[in-house]
Amino acid sequence: MGLTGIQIFKLLPKTNCKECGVPTCLAFAMNLAAGKAELASCPYVSEETKAMLSEASAPPIRPLAIGSGENLVKIGGETVLFRHEKTFVNKPGFGILISDSMPESEIDNRLKRFNALKYERVGLILRPEMIALKNESGDPEKFEVLVKKVKSETDAALILMSEKVEALTIGVKACADRIPLVYAATDGNLEALANLAKENKCPLAVKANDIGTLSGLAEKLITAGLKDLVLDSGSRTMRRAFEDQIFIRRAALIQKNRFLGFPTITFPCEMTEDPMKEALIAATFVAKYAGIIILSDFQGESLFPLLVERLNIYTDPQRPMMMQQGIYPIGNPGETSPVLITTNFSLTYFIVSAEIESSRVPSWLLVMDTEGLSVLTAWAAGKFVGDAMGVFIKKSGIVDKVNHRRVTIPGAVAVISGDLEEELGSGWEVKIGPREAAHLPAYLKMGT
Ligand code: SF4
Repeated sequence: MGLTGIQIFKLLPKTNCKECGVPTCLAFAMNLAAGKAELASCPYVSEETKAMLSEASAPPIRPLAIGSGENLVKIGGETVLFRHEKTFVNKPGFGILISDSMPESEIDNRLKRFNALKYERVGLILRPEMIALKNESGDPEKFEVLVKKVKSETDAALILMSEKVEALTIGVKACADRIPLVYAATDGNLEALANLAKENKCPLAVKANDIGTLSGLAEKLITAGLKDLVLDSGSRTMRRAFEDQIFIRRAALIQKNRFLGFPTITFPCEMTEDPMKEALIAATFVAKYAGIIILSDFQGESLFPLLVERLNIYTDPQRPMMMQQGIYPIGNPGETSPVLITTNFSLTYFIVSAEIESSRVPSWLLVMDTEGLSVLTAWAAGKFVGDAMGVFIKKSGIVDKVNHRRVTIPGAVAVISGDLEEELGSGWEVKIGPREAAHLPAYLKMGT
């Protein structure tokens, strides 16, 4: 279970040497407790304390990674039951199921959908990340062909599923550099799969038919030296699987049961044949508390809402989504193009930039850091006011890009323009753009 800042502070050297980048050991301890600093930043912590701190400050749900490269899927690392306490850390991976018994055309179609279904929203690319490959045929060679095909045609993080150790061994060999998840160690194959996972440094899923047995199997695997486990409680009904997810999270966080302190894998694809029900079950597990969610297939109409739900659940509720402060050229603007200024709240930026794009008037959009507050909220909080905006505009470098001194503030209040004009000095003209973003295109076309 995580330590408090004060508990960590007691173990630090207390010299306040500042080499970790903060003024005091106490500040460093607080950052460490909040997950905003790395223990390695303090060069003076003894090895013994390091071991103690890393163990004690580890999150109750162990974080682990599946896959490699840009599409590395990180799961686990959770520290709370409810996202209003603190943000959830690693969003669950969405996987599509592909079996080696499927016709070639169906496999190709699923791979096509996996590669094609990507959506841009508030500047982020939303997409599924995982493919679960099932050795349904029981033929290890057929499984190997499938693993190689999927590996070469996608960047997916792979889950290798088989009841045969031989098939999993061949499968892992075919994609060991992709760090697949091996599924699943059970009472019957525990030792063989523990060795396979250890030799190839892969995470291992462990499956049982009840949580007591699952905890026992995880204990054996930990004793055998495995660290990266994924839990499958074996439930394949919505109600039991939902109860299991909550039980496992509570056992790890509240009872500090370290044998259940791992991310989980869920299979909505095995709980119903109705695609709509499957999406609803998956949506439930996004909120509570799956690490991996396997769907029978990907369809845009169900996948997109799930991706958006996941984005919302795993966004830090205490920190608004923000853009970087700076100058954003829209539509290849030149020196006579209009200059607009807004705040760095992501939603504000995307509404304003989309409206500028639809006006087809090439423009410069200045995005000012207001700690993620929208225009009127930032103004009310004193962060989007004339003097601060004036300083930002002068420092931004926009005066080198345009031959005029006009700036528009979409959706602001009149008092800002007067204050800003005063701050910028003579020669500057400040206008308030329309309050409704939808009127912005017409306004820009009129010339600002
Ligand atoms: Fe304290 Fe270590 Fe930071 Fe120095 S580097 S201030 S000893 S935590």
